Amino acid sequence: MKVGQVRLRRFANTVANGYFCSVIKFNNSPIMRKKIVAGNWKMNTTVPEGKELAEAIVAKLSTVPSDVQLIIAPPFTHLCCAGKAIKGTSIALSAQNCADQPKGAFTGEVSAAMLKSIDCTYVILGHSERRQYYGETSATLVAKIGLALENGLKPIYCIGEKLEEREAGHHFDVVKAQIEEVLYTLTPEQMSQIVVAYEPVWAIGTGKTATSEQAQEIHAFVRKTIAAKFGQQIADDCSILYGGSCKPSNAKELFAQKDIDGGLIGGASLKADDFVAIAQSY
Ligand code: PEP
Repeated sequence: MKVGQVRLRRFANTVANGYFCSVIKFNNSPIMRKKIVAGNWKMNTTVPEGKELAEAIVAKLSTVPSDVQLIIAPPFTHLCCAGKAIKGTSIALSAQNCADQPKGAFTGEVSAAMLKSIDCTYVILGHSERRQYYGETSATLVAKIGLALENGLKPIYCIGEKLEEREAGHHFDVVKAQIEEVLYTLTPEQMSQIVVAYEPVWAIGTGKTATSEQAQEIHAFVRKTIAAKFGQQIADDCSILYGGSCKPSNAKELFAQKDIDGGLIGGASLKADDFVAIAQSY
């Protein structure tokens, strides 16, 4: 930290919306960003199993530090039921995707407005599995993020490099392009609604985790890239999550890094004990 900079960290419950933020003073301007642990259930669990999982997380919620925002992202079919299970708690509901069109003849798609109507707060967009298996491009993601924001949803925008890109030393260029092509199209006000999830593709579901140094290095770079377009305050207020084989045994070290504001959790979010233990790592 530079001389003259005052840095105080404390936690404040923003009671109005039920969320908790970390509040940092930096050059006398308050910085607020949430600590978030979000569970991406992917295409797992039946509806009854999902209900049981959501209820098990609720049952353990009192053991999670009060300044950590828990989010669950069940499949579309589970959203209403899981939403009921978490109703009245501080846990927020997220979808895993939304359509790139507002409404109409798009068989099989689910719109941002539909998600908002069942009390979703967040939507995961740009997950590497969507980019890889469903051909999602930056153009698709600009459309989806725009619709999500128009409908009052907060996008959790996923970025991250593939193994060959890291091995070739191109990881900074890859995430920079993913930020510039999509997030740079937003207004500062829109950008302030975005959560970013850095998920190195080689670490997702593989058991390989980025080291805390690797993750911190790229998270700091992501924040710097956001600051270059939107200014330091918006960058400092943006929660940047790490994703990729995050589990109870490695979460503490990852979350201790200055620019890591929590995790997007896949496999380990399917067990309430593990998911909650990750959140307890703060
Ligand atoms: C994910 O897919 O978002 C993810 C982080 O998966 P996992 O934790 O299983 O690596």
